Amino acid sequence: MSAPRGKNPIIRIRQLKKVFRVGEERVRALDGIDLDIFPNEFVAIMGASGSGKSTLMNILGCLDKPTSGQYILNGHPTHKMGMGKLAQVRNQEIGFIFQSYELLNRSTALRNVMLPMLYSKHHIFSARRRAKDALRLVGLDDRMSHRPNQLSGGQRQRVAIARSLVNEPSMILADEPTGNLDSKTTVEIIDLFTKLHKAGQTIVVVTHEEDVAGHARRIVRLRDGRIISDYPSDEDPIHLDWVQRMSEGRASITDAELEINAKADAERRARLEAEKKNKRSLFSRKSKPEAVSTKREGES
Ligand code: ADP
Ligand code: MG
Repeated sequence: MSAPRGKNPIIRIRQLKKVFRVGEERVRALDGIDLDIFPNEFVAIMGASGSGKSTLMNILGCLDKPTSGQYILNGHPTHKMGMGKLAQVRNQEIGFIFQSYELLNRSTALRNVMLPMLYSKHHIFSARRRAKDALRLVGLDDRMSHRPNQLSGGQRQRVAIARSLVNEPSMILADEPTGNLDSKTTVEIIDLFTKLHKAGQTIVVVTHEEDVAGHARRIVRLRDGRIISDYPSDEDPIHLDWVQRMSEGRASITDAELEINAKADAERRARLEAEKKNKRSLFSRKSKPEAVSTKREGES
């Protein structure tokens, strides 16, 4: 897959489940998720409404805990932590961006961006300097003393992005960041994500827009709390089909096509797994008689 090898993942999730109890009923919002995300990946999470995207994001962002399974965030076994320690890890590791910006309306852009640093080790002067740097980075040099209601939607989201960056998180999580924006502003915000990704940032973005997902490098699709496909974005059959449709002026995706994507990916995974096994057995046959080095090719 596209993940860079030889590095430790920022996210390592194994058999993650989240069950909500509503009265007598149990909703399996996440039903056995396995997922690794490596440094400097740019991942889009897609899926129909109710498929578990926000539930997954809330757990990734340490806002909620799974019912069972493992989630190791940058080496921290979060599934073993209490809410207090979890909040600490969240503040240190995660930058959040929401569809509704979640800014304080009575505070200026600068104050909003300084906010996460009030809970961290930074001195007020360095906090102000860092907040200004972050606002400059998102192109809001001349809007620092504006309040949210004096800014456009795109500018508000830029403030939120600046705020997500100030603690230098190991990962940015964005839940439908362009959901409230028009298409021109969406492009601007996505260009900003692309710029951050190029600068080394790890980004996970939930979206239901194929054009937004197309800017990510990897597309993970959920259905009924499970991962049904996980492709590099330039190999995802649904995405490629969408690109084709767009070029022809048609654009919606049917359930039947989702089914085809899931099937194709299952076959592809089985094939990769078989190839891996094949290589391993070839190797073990070859290396037996010599028994000189225990290192495999490519290992150092
Ligand atoms: P998505 O973000 O993909 O639309 P969600 O993660 O919000 O989906 O929801 C996944 C499933 O879990 C849905 O069936 C939803 O109704 C249910 N769900 C989410 N949050 C709660 C909750 N706090 N209590 C009960 N059910 C929930
Ligand atoms: Mg949601």
